Amino acid sequence: MKKAAILGSTGSIGTQTLEIARTNKDIGITALAARNNITLLEEQIREFRPKLAAVWSREKAAELRSRVRDLEVKIVSGMDGLLEVACEPEAEILVTAIVGMIGILPTIEAIKAGKDIALANKETLVTAGHIIMPLAREKDVSILPVDSEHSAIFQSLQGGQEKALHKILLTASGGPFRGKKREELADIQVEDALKHPNWTMGRKITIDSSTMVNKGLEVIEAKWLFGMSVDQIQVVVQPQSIIHSMVEYKDGAVIAQLGTPDMKLPIQYALYYPERRYLPGDRLDFSALSQITFEQPDMDTFFGLRLAYEAGRAGGTLPTVFNAANERAVAMFLEREIRYLEIPEMIQACMEAHKNLADPTVEEILKTEQETYEFIKNRW
Ligand code: NDP
Repeated sequence: MKKAAILGSTGSIGTQTLEIARTNKDIGITALAARNNITLLEEQIREFRPKLAAVWSREKAAELRSRVRDLEVKIVSGMDGLLEVACEPEAEILVTAIVGMIGILPTIEAIKAGKDIALANKETLVTAGHIIMPLAREKDVSILPVDSEHSAIFQSLQGGQEKALHKILLTASGGPFRGKKREELADIQVEDALKHPNWTMGRKITIDSSTMVNKGLEVIEAKWLFGMSVDQIQVVVQPQSIIHSMVEYKDGAVIAQLGTPDMKLPIQYALYYPERRYLPGDRLDFSALSQITFEQPDMDTFFGLRLAYEAGRAGGTLPTVFNAANERAVAMFLEREIRYLEIPEMIQACMEAHKNLADPTVEEILKTEQETYEFIKNRW
């Protein structure tokens, strides 16, 4: 039986990972972590019987401890708790389904402990890819992409022809505001931005998809996962979300992975790689499918994507500034403290004010994150 630990088990990716474990019955769950949804976490503990569970706040952890005192499970809290879950000795694979840069340290410690990583938490690679990828190679652990686009690229690379890779074609749905111009986005409300046309996801990534910042984060994530420069990664808008991404080889051949929009496929592929398992659910019906269309991304309206290319090209601490500014801006938009268009404006202002530092350490990355938050606090 394969053993797995999950950071972010109560979220969109976390619950779908557990659904796969429930259906397949041959994955043992050894440790779980959530921020504060202890009601769902308790249900998960009762069903999957992990030895360890982490909750971010100490108060919530104490409450959960008392709720599950009839079970043999250790409840931990804070960053120490996340690190303990990440390094739980029996787990072979860690699913990083937590949201945001908080995933950096647990991911690094899990790699040091020799765990394979099923990586959903893209913010970690965006900001610390230059540390994580070499460390994974050194420790001989696999970083298996969970993001549907990166899984599609990974699947299209099976056959060992990575050296012949010429270009990555990263597909994008274009989000709910595709085709709109900047002035039409001025009055967008939280509810509008939370309506994704094709995918059901957590709140932060849904907003990121609407601004196309998510695609920008994915460009930088792909740079690290597949060892390409950002200029070898082309974003192609494919509104029906049927082609999940493509690769172009040196001879011009293009290989793609297609499917219905269902995150369980990439999650399951990462958990069982290289095995392919049966997955219940809808299949593509090519007789009913009327068309697959393509467009170029509008990087003037969705200038967060352009900023991501700039950050990815520059490297150093700039991707951290890009990501941290976005994390804070999205949180403020969700709290209705700023307008929709201020999200990319805030990212741009933070990037312009930043003095880039090449090859930062984890401490320098985390310091840059705090400085970015401080800059926003003083300016907005
Ligand atoms: P959700 O918001 O749905 O879930 C986030 C999870 O992380 C929750 O379990 C949450 O706990 C937990 N969490 C957040 N902060 C902490 C913390 N400080 N300590 C412990 N746990 C914490 O996010 P998603 O599942 O949508 O996304 C997760 C990651 O996967 C993101 O990086 C996203 O970009 C990426 N991703 C998501 C996709 C999707 O389809 N959803 C697709 C591709 C990538 P709680 O419930 O208690 O708040």
